[in-house]
Amino acid sequence: MNEPYGVFDPSQFADLVEQSSDLIQCADKNGDFLYVNQSWCNTLGYTKKEALTLTVEDVFHPDSVAHCKSIFKRVLAGLSVGEVEAAFITKSGERLDVQGYIDSKWDDSGNPCYTRATFRDITDKKRLEKQNEDFRLRLVESNELHQLLSTVMTNAVELDNREFDDRITDALRAFGRFVSVDRAYIFHYDFILDMTSNTHEWCEEGIEPQIDQLQKIPLNDIPDWVNRHRAGEEVMINNIYLLPEHDRVRQILEPQGVKSILTVPMMRKGICFGFVGFESVSDYHPFSEIEKKILLQLSHFLLNVLERKRISDDLSHSNRQLQTIMDSQSELVCKFDRDCNLSFTNRAFQQTLQAKSEEQDLSHLSSYMDEESFETLKEHINMLVETGQPKTLRISAYGHADTLIIEWNVYVTRYHDGAVSEFISVGYDVTEKEKLENQLVYMAYHDQLTGLLNRYGFERSLLESESSGACHLIMLDIDDFSMLNTIYGSATGDNILIETGHILNSLVSSNGFVSRISSDEFMVCLNSNDLWHDQHFLNSLEERVHHSFEGGSIPQFLHFSVGYTLFDPSAHSFEKAYHEATLALKSAKESGGAAIHAYMNWMYLDLQRINDIQKGLRNGLKENEFRMEYQQKMNNTSGKVTGVEALARWESKLLGNVGPGEFIPVFSKSEAIDLLSEWSINRVFHDLPELKAKYGADIKVSINLSPRVLLKKDFSQWLNNMRKRHKIDRDTVMLEITEDVFLEDLNLVNNLLRSIRDNGFLISLDDFGSGYASLSYLQNMLIDEVKIDKSITDQVLTNDKHLVLLNAIIKIAEAFHIAPVIEGVESENQLKLLQELGDFDVQGYLLHRPERL
Ligand code: C2E
Ligand code: MG
Ligand code: MG
Repeated sequence: MNEPYGVFDPSQFADLVEQSSDLIQCADKNGDFLYVNQSWCNTLGYTKKEALTLTVEDVFHPDSVAHCKSIFKRVLAGLSVGEVEAAFITKSGERLDVQGYIDSKWDDSGNPCYTRATFRDITDKKRLEKQNEDFRLRLVESNELHQLLSTVMTNAVELDNREFDDRITDALRAFGRFVSVDRAYIFHYDFILDMTSNTHEWCEEGIEPQIDQLQKIPLNDIPDWVNRHRAGEEVMINNIYLLPEHDRVRQILEPQGVKSILTVPMMRKGICFGFVGFESVSDYHPFSEIEKKILLQLSHFLLNVLERKRISDDLSHSNRQLQTIMDSQSELVCKFDRDCNLSFTNRAFQQTLQAKSEEQDLSHLSSYMDEESFETLKEHINMLVETGQPKTLRISAYGHADTLIIEWNVYVTRYHDGAVSEFISVGYDVTEKEKLENQLVYMAYHDQLTGLLNRYGFERSLLESESSGACHLIMLDIDDFSMLNTIYGSATGDNILIETGHILNSLVSSNGFVSRISSDEFMVCLNSNDLWHDQHFLNSLEERVHHSFEGGSIPQFLHFSVGYTLFDPSAHSFEKAYHEATLALKSAKESGGAAIHAYMNWMYLDLQRINDIQKGLRNGLKENEFRMEYQQKMNNTSGKVTGVEALARWESKLLGNVGPGEFIPVFSKSEAIDLLSEWSINRVFHDLPELKAKYGADIKVSINLSPRVLLKKDFSQWLNNMRKRHKIDRDTVMLEITEDVFLEDLNLVNNLLRSIRDNGFLISLDDFGSGYASLSYLQNMLIDEVKIDKSITDQVLTNDKHLVLLNAIIKIAEAFHIAPVIEGVESENQLKLLQELGDFDVQGYLLHRPERL
């Protein structure tokens, strides 16, 4: 027969079998190999010869022995097994996963004679599959764990203790079930008491809880266990019955029915706080690496949560303690952030302060005070943050009934990096204290009877208004007040004082302030201005007082004695001015009262010496103790001598050298000055030819004249006669008068000056700027020269105000054709400055000292 493919001969396929890449094998019913192909040998690592000495069981992998045996048995029994999977072991001991078909051949009587099988090596495929599965599992696990942890522990730390413990147990349950154990727990190590206790436990249904028995177990019972945990290692016992019977761990675990156990420590920064464990009670549970990892994760997680819970508990505990302590304080304590949101207030705060209205947000500081106070507080806080300097701050806040004054001490707390954490404020209710303080301050600075300032209040107000410059310090005393008191009674006396206070206040109005400094003495500060006229002041005062008591029983003859001085805070102290005013008042009183006296330098002098000086004049004149010195006056630009000033000198045998600064004021008080002036004028007129010869024919000679002399009747006539007698040219002699002269009737003075000038004398206004002089004198008085006082010259280099003043005086003088002379030039720098200011005469020690002829 011609078969298309030739005659079928199975032996022809022997090559195919032999060269197949599949593993092909035949074995007899005992399992002894009858045939293996080359692939089989190559893959399993045996030679054919070796293979034929083996049985199938020799190549079964231990994991697969039971499975392989059962397949073999089924095949020999004639049952179909379909496609099978099995695991072989190579000669070198490696695992080989295979997949294939196996069947058996029977003899004619139907008994199995051998099995035959073809397998494919699926080791790589299996490994890949396993990897995939592992990966899939890990993904599932981590996802599930993640979800578990977040659901179990969200906000756990904010729960109360019972709920928190329940959540922990939930976590143990979830993890325990996840790894199929029936008990999971946490133990805490107490290395101070050397004990460990079960804090949380979960048991599967039907498993006996053990937590009550597992408290305070001494650590020295289980040293190895503890040491492993402290070293950061797990304790894993897959079968506790493999432990020796006397082993303490076994003795503890066995009664609990534990078969397998895995525990891992809870570690932070190398310190072991306890451990977490899984137990299997119902069956043995060999723990895998992944289960260990899961337990480790649980351990980390629990440690975190427990630690957070502990910190939060500590914090709320300290907060409760703080609240308790703070509530017992009488101070108002609060904490707030940079935006003034309150995070804490103590009981005193709540009981003392109240929000402005019910709608207000009680958790914001601004609710407790008005806008202005709140702004002040915020400014204060900003300052505090900038400077770090805590400062006490008094602001008002809303109390339950009234507005309160609270003294706040605010402190700032910061984080490690310096950022502001919050503010703590401790407040004191000082409302009463402040009222009292204000009252005390008021009392300290006010007179209780009149409500006027007292001496201290006066002094304080004066210092506060120092910047406003010079002022008149006026001291008043009611004449014979003690007598009034005796006759009319002290109630009337009080009324007089009160009324006087009112009248003084209205006289002074906003130009100054009034005080009562002792029983019937008042002190007034009146801003110095050009309109000040002392007599007018006294007259107005008396007039008003008389008017206010008109028709009553109060005497109409009420009078005042007044003394005053000019107080320039930049030049002298208040004490000095006060003393000057006292002396002036004394002088007014001594003159018989109902008078107003300005302070004069002589008032300072010792009474005895004043007497001696006064008495010494006549004798001094007789004994020729007086002489004249002359100080030159020169042009500041050309240096030409323009005149000399006659300055009297007294070398008293009795009193020694007495300067004109001392004797002139004393003599000026009485007629003595007439004598001296007569002597001076005689002396100068006599010296004049010699002076002209020495200093120049066209020089002018100045003679100082006291107001008293000038105002003397017939003086002008007398002087003129003297000039004529000495044959002195007109306009050669200049008379230096001081501004006190203008304290008299200005018209009278001006008429006098006119007649003197008509008689051929020149008039110079001396010491201008040292006293009460006003620029209006330059405008209204008949004068030829103004001598600007040394006290101004002294300060022109250092004080801009004085320079401006000097310049103004010069300009005004020149505008009225009055020659300015600057006195007291002592330094080159002064002279240089004066040269820059213009062309005028100067006088001073720098240029010439007074000298004898
Ligand atoms: P005064 O009229 O202002 O005279 C200028 C005074 O200043 C003089 O003092 C003079 O020596 C002094 N003096 C001048 N240049 C300088 C200077 O550069 N530095 C300093 N520290 N002082 C300087 P003195 O001689 O002691 O006279 C004092 C006052 O006595 C005079 O001031 C004048 O008001 C008065 N006086 C002097 N002699 C008589 C007189 O015969 N009759 C009258 N009524 N008064 C006289
Ligand atoms: Mg003079
Ligand atoms: Mg002078």
